[in-house]
Amino acid sequence: MIYNSDELVQYLSLSNLAQMRYAVDADALEVFQVTPEGKKVLYEGDLAGCLAKVYGEKSGVDSEKVESFRRDMQQGTASFQYEFQVQDTQYTLRCKTESTSSGGRVCYGVVENIGTPSELSFRRASDKDAMLDMLNKKAIIEYAKQRLSRKDLTSYLVILDLDNFKMVNDTYGHMFGDTVLVTFTEIINKAMGSHGVVGRLGGDEILIVTNGIPNKPALRPFLREIRTNMELTYKGKLDGISLTCSIGAAAFPEHASTYEETMALADKMLYLAKDKGRNRYLIYTPELHQDYVNSNQHEAPCQKKPIKQYNNIGILQYMLSEYLVKQASCNDYVFEQIGRSFRLSEVLCVYSRGDIGFRWTEGGEGLRPEDMEFLDVDDPFLDRVDENGLYLMDGRYLIQDEFPQLYEKLAARKIEAAIFYRMMKDGKPDGYVLFAKHHQRQKWSEYETIALAVAAKIFEIASVG
Ligand code: GH3
Ligand code: MG
Repeated sequence: MIYNSDELVQYLSLSNLAQMRYAVDADALEVFQVTPEGKKVLYEGDLAGCLAKVYGEKSGVDSEKVESFRRDMQQGTASFQYEFQVQDTQYTLRCKTESTSSGGRVCYGVVENIGTPSELSFRRASDKDAMLDMLNKKAIIEYAKQRLSRKDLTSYLVILDLDNFKMVNDTYGHMFGDTVLVTFTEIINKAMGSHGVVGRLGGDEILIVTNGIPNKPALRPFLREIRTNMELTYKGKLDGISLTCSIGAAAFPEHASTYEETMALADKMLYLAKDKGRNRYLIYTPELHQDYVNSNQHEAPCQKKPIKQYNNIGILQYMLSEYLVKQASCNDYVFEQIGRSFRLSEVLCVYSRGDIGFRWTEGGEGLRPEDMEFLDVDDPFLDRVDENGLYLMDGRYLIQDEFPQLYEKLAARKIEAAIFYRMMKDGKPDGYVLFAKHHQRQKWSEYETIALAVAAKIFEIASVG
């Protein structure tokens, strides 16, 4: 026995199914729903009475199908299935007929609500994404807007985005990347079943519009399943890359009154999920997230706007033009942009044998006197740098035995992983740059290393003259 009957009742009561039992020889039909309080009878009587009740005068509309259904029921066909529409809703009905021990025949059926025709009409071939088993961007947005025009229905907009997908593409190739997207799709579709319509917003970003999920406790198991399955599928298989997904969700009409507002909230929750370290889902909850949403922390914190936030190519191009062409001096704005673009926790740059420093931290702390003492430019630790001036510290523990004092200083700053760059002037060590993270779930990737090495080099050049 894999369940007890009380549990079975709980499961059935959560589904949108109705059951039916038809004693064929006695022409006695019962349509009911299982609820924890007991059986809720929707109809009891003969078959003709039920059909008349459901279709009323409209029985002519679908008369052929109704007739065929009536025959299957009355003849006790072993197994059969119908799709039909009553008012605005589309149902499927699956039946099987069995002989009972007392000699009669009983037809058992389940009726499943499979949505409104407008939802179904989005399953046209031209609405499908070319590669993934889901709607394309145009179709999912159209559907979301249509669904959110119904204020009587609770809908969650759920935005999902793979974590570190670029790195997976860069390391294993685009074709492998495509198989990841297919697997991600399967995980989402399997978890959501008939409880959501899924579509691709572009790249690795996917939108789910839920259906029949009334509140946050009901939504959580769906999102938990997606997040966990994605993590487990690739765990330990990608040479240190954490291929997981981050998810943001918001409810309509509870927390926003239009499609645009609901999308914006879900999107902010996705960004917050990424910022908190990825591999998690966040469902908008005013008590927890209102301040974050209103504070605009998720928007580029700078007043200048030449670069897009989180655009790590743009920041390098900007730096090149600022430093090399305009020969500007180092400024806080660039530090902040680098920190945010590469999701760092801290950037520290100490120049001119310890005379000048710049510092950015995630929490908005600036340079403190002790930062100038953090590491002497002649410290033997910096001899670890390679021929490019770089030392990649994938984990703090790696230096614990050899450099215990530096280890303690890093621990005090909660730095788990860092890239050190030693700046040179006239052939002598002159300063260093530290790019640090409080969390490191994987090794520094090649693209992070290349980009940050270029940034550090620009700092070095900028100090000359
Ligand atoms: P983050 O954790 O911040 O989301 O980082 P990420 O590496 O996942 O970066 P982001 O979501 O910004 O980038 C998505 C990448 O998805 C960019 C592009 O290389 C890749 N991509 C977009 N469409 C496809 C596709 O159809 N196939 C493959 N293989 N890759 C794609
Ligand atoms: Mg991504």
